[in-house]
Amino acid sequence: MKIGIVGLGLMGGSLALDLRALGHEILGVSRQSATCEQAIAQGVVTTASTELSLLAEAEVIFLCTPLAALTATVEQLLPHLKPETILTDVGSVKVPVVEAIAPRWQNFVGGHPMAGTDKSGLAAASRHLFAGRPYVLTPIETTPESALQTVTTIVRQLNVFLHISSPQDHDRAVAWISHLPVMVSAGLIAACGQEPDAQILKLAQSIASSGFRDTSRVGGGNPELGVMMARYNRAELLRTLVAYRQQLDELMALIEQQDWETLEQYLQRTQQDRPDFLSK
Ligand code: NAP
Repeated sequence: MKIGIVGLGLMGGSLALDLRALGHEILGVSRQSATCEQAIAQGVVTTASTELSLLAEAEVIFLCTPLAALTATVEQLLPHLKPETILTDVGSVKVPVVEAIAPRWQNFVGGHPMAGTDKSGLAAASRHLFAGRPYVLTPIETTPESALQTVTTIVRQLNVFLHISSPQDHDRAVAWISHLPVMVSAGLIAACGQEPDAQILKLAQSIASSGFRDTSRVGGGNPELGVMMARYNRAELLRTLVAYRQQLDELMALIEQQDWETLEQYLQRTQQDRPDFLSK
């Protein structure tokens, strides 16, 4: 199949690598010509250009730019497309993306691979980034069944766990398990940096180990991505942050009151509940 990819960064580059290895012809478009040249040189894509006209012959196009550039990219892309071309995106938030693109191009299926790293750009792209991870598609009433089927077929080739949901349910769910953790983890790093004694701070930084590595990972990722999550999923993210603040207050009260028994029950519950979020 001829597959177009716009935005040859972590997501676009990783998709290109896997889909090309599966035998698809990959037409890549990115903002910078240096990125396009690098993508060709490293065999990430079959061909690449900074011009969206390269995608005129693509059957399916994955939009992998930052969220803020998605709508403008689609506007510029539309004049080059055949009516049957299918568009899909990988944006982390779905309601604003689907609301912006679906009225302009019916053959559009919103998508979101639940995979990533704390790096960005083409250099961070890697094979098998999506394998064994959830991949959500968010069709709406007007999405043609044939477009959904085609995107489903391609995405399944990446060995993902496919989920279908409405854009609204997607955004509400990712606020809990993706966007809230970024803010909590960022807050954790910022709080640790508040230690006023330079010697203690240095010691803490020196002895931080696997626990801190795990809990700080998503807070130490691409800042642009975090801002986009907050901007485009603001209401849902705020809802989860309120719930999180309530939990912090509850924990503080238990510790202030030295209510170790209730604290232990609380931690027993979280120990029991955690696997429900991790089992695939
Ligand atoms: P990224 O590594 O920064 O890659 C995006 C690439 O798009 C940039 O490297 C840039 O390439 C290119 N680009 C920027 N503006 C463009 C434009 N107007 N036209 C064409 N190309 C443009 O970001 P990413 O992490 O792959 O994220 C891309 C999308 O995936 C976002 O919508 C994000 O919400 C979604 N997503 C990210 C993750 C994650 O964990 N990172 C997970 C799931 C979904 P050059 O400037 O080098 O040409």
